[in-house]
Amino acid sequence: MSPDEMERFILSLGERPFRARQVAAWIYKKGVADFELMTDLSGAFRLLLSQNARVTPPAVTKVTTAADGTVKFLLGLADGQAVESVIIPDEERTTLCVSSQAGCALGCAFCMTGRLGRKRDLTAGEIVGQVLVAREYLGTRGGTLTNIVFMGMGEPLLNYDQVKQALTIILADRGLAFSWRHVTVSTAGIPEAIARLGADLLVNLAVSLNAPDDETRDRIMPINRKYPLDTLMAALRAYPLKRGRRITLEYVLLSGINDTDDHARALVKLVRGIPVKINLIPFNPFDGAPFSRPDDARVLGFQAILIDAHLNAIIRKSKGGRIAAACGQLAAAPHTVP
Ligand code: SF4
Repeated sequence: MSPDEMERFILSLGERPFRARQVAAWIYKKGVADFELMTDLSGAFRLLLSQNARVTPPAVTKVTTAADGTVKFLLGLADGQAVESVIIPDEERTTLCVSSQAGCALGCAFCMTGRLGRKRDLTAGEIVGQVLVAREYLGTRGGTLTNIVFMGMGEPLLNYDQVKQALTIILADRGLAFSWRHVTVSTAGIPEAIARLGADLLVNLAVSLNAPDDETRDRIMPINRKYPLDTLMAALRAYPLKRGRRITLEYVLLSGINDTDDHARALVKLVRGIPVKINLIPFNPFDGAPFSRPDDARVLGFQAILIDAHLNAIIRKSKGGRIAAACGQLAAAPHTVP
């Protein structure tokens, strides 16, 4: 529930509005899920809450840590599905990569999650629950979660309503109170949902682009056959941006597939006139992957063409590769679903 919905719910139980503020503070500020521990509420009200509501953060099934500081959570959901989320520490920020679906229907060829197929959409509670789990983990170790990216398992914009609800809670002052500047939704490119998002909420947008032409993109991202690049780029041109903000384009470099100088030059042309920054991600191999990672010289050569064209292009150091927590490697393995 958003804080506003929580207030309406608690009013419907015959309580006064300040009680809703207390409950929201326990859940969203202090991360307390058990009504019995909400000690400034009366015993009668705690009983009433436990009879009418429940707070069920995902169960942490497994925590895997890497030497580079990346932490991957395997989370068990109430119906036995499993998802992963990943904490990625950086010099000046600590980012949580959240999942929006169990599995994913889009089948991008370079992505392990795509091989699972879509199991189901996550609820807003299951998405916010991932943030609560990560925040508590960091809090007990003296860390602070600063950023949230919807780049884990699933296509967030194909679970639009629940993702919007989760974002409302994440951004609300009486919710998790994150600044929109620190929250990014990443999509494989669903033009009508990009337009909806731009109209509904202020957050950062990232697009998993990965190719500058339809022929290449069709090969590695089947969604492109439904929404080819001209429709996607039109949606990006129309996306409302605050002054000085840019759309992030993610570009996974696959050796011999999308990493030639010609691809780089086509990319320069494609994004002309759109305020973008481009994250170049050398492919993170996984078992059975039909691609390989370009060598460093190729990655630098690709980047140089973008920089020469005055584009902001950064090579992302992939973190979490050793624990299968890097981009495109999330597969909720070992899978706990029977
Ligand atoms: S890259 Fe994203 S959209 Fe594509 S299959 Fe993986 S999770 Fe789904």
